[in-house]
Amino acid sequence: MAAQLIDGVALSQQLRDQFAQETLALKAMGVTPGLAVILVGDDQASQVYVRNKVKACEQAGFHSVLVRQPASLSEADLLACVQSLNLDPTIHGILVQLPLPKHIDAQKMIEAISPEKDVDGFHVSSAGALMTGLPGFWPCTPHGCMKMLEHIGYNLRGKHAVVIGRSNIVGKPMAMMLLQQNATVTLCHSATPDLKHHTLQADVIVAAVGKRHVLTADMVKPGAVVIDVGMNRDGQGKLCGDVDFEAVRLVAGHITPVPGGVGPMTITMLLANTLISARCAAHTH
Ligand code: NAP
Repeated sequence: MAAQLIDGVALSQQLRDQFAQETLALKAMGVTPGLAVILVGDDQASQVYVRNKVKACEQAGFHSVLVRQPASLSEADLLACVQSLNLDPTIHGILVQLPLPKHIDAQKMIEAISPEKDVDGFHVSSAGALMTGLPGFWPCTPHGCMKMLEHIGYNLRGKHAVVIGRSNIVGKPMAMMLLQQNATVTLCHSATPDLKHHTLQADVIVAAVGKRHVLTADMVKPGAVVIDVGMNRDGQGKLCGDVDFEAVRLVAGHITPVPGGVGPMTITMLLANTLISARCAAHTH
C-alpha cells in the first residue's frame, strides 16, 4: 500500500488560519506582529523566498517590512541596519536572507540580531537554548518537520530517527528536536560510510542533503516515516527533493512530497516564531 502523504500545504493553511486569528487578538491589545526581512543583492532564488515570506506575513495580518539593499552594501552599513531594527518596537522578528555577498560575514550579521527577534533561530543563543532545552526560537525548517510529525500523531518516544545532513540550520537542530521528543537519533553526513545500514533501521528518516535520490526505496524500512527537506532540480528543471519519491512512497508509511511538503511549513514556522515574539512584546509593554 502506498504511503500516506503528509500535506505541507494543507497543514500550513490550517496553522496560518489560526495565526491570523491570534493576530486579530494581539491587534486588539495594540500589538501588530512585525517581521523585517533584509535582502542584500539580487540573488534570484532569494528574491522568490523573500517575496513568499512577505506575502505570507501580509496574509496573516502581520506588519512586514522588506529592506532591500544593494550587493555593494558594506558590512558596517548592514550592521547598522540590523541594529536599527533591533531598536524598532514595531518589529518583532528580523531575518537576514542568506546567502549574503562574500564580503559580508553572515555569522556576524546573525549574531547582531537581538536574540529576542531571532525568528530564524540561527543565533548562537537560540542554538544553545535548543541544545539545553531552554526556551528560545527553533529554526523554522526542522520545527516545521516536527509539526508534521505531530500532525500525524506520531509518538517519537523510543523510536529510531535517522537524520541525513548536519547543517546548523537543518540537520543538527533537527536531531536535537527529535532527541527532545525521546527518539534515539543517528545523525549522518557525507563521511558516513554506509548510509543504508543506518536508514534501514530507522522508524523516521529526515533527508536534508541537497542531492537527488540520496534516499532510495531499498534504504527504507517498510512503514517508516520519510520527511524530505531537500530542494533540488530534476533533469527537466522541476523542483524535487532528496528522496526517490515515486519508489519510496511504495515502501514508507508516511512521506512528505516536494513541492508541497516541508517548504511551506518553513514559512509557517517563521510566522509562528514572529507571533511568539509579538506575544512576548504584548505582555511586557
Ligand atoms: P548544507 O548546509 O549543504 O548541508 C548538507 C548536508 O548534507 C551536510 O551536512 C553534508 O555533510 C550532507 N551530505 C552531503 N552529501 C551527503 C551524502 N552523500 N550522504 C549523506 N550526507 C551528505 O544544506 P542545508 O542548508 O542543510 O540544506 C539541505 C537541503 O535542504 C538543500 O537541498 C536545501 O535547499 C534544502 N532546504 C530546504 C528548506 C525548505 O524550506 N524546504 C530549508 C532549508 C534547506 P557534511 O557536513 O559532511 O558536508
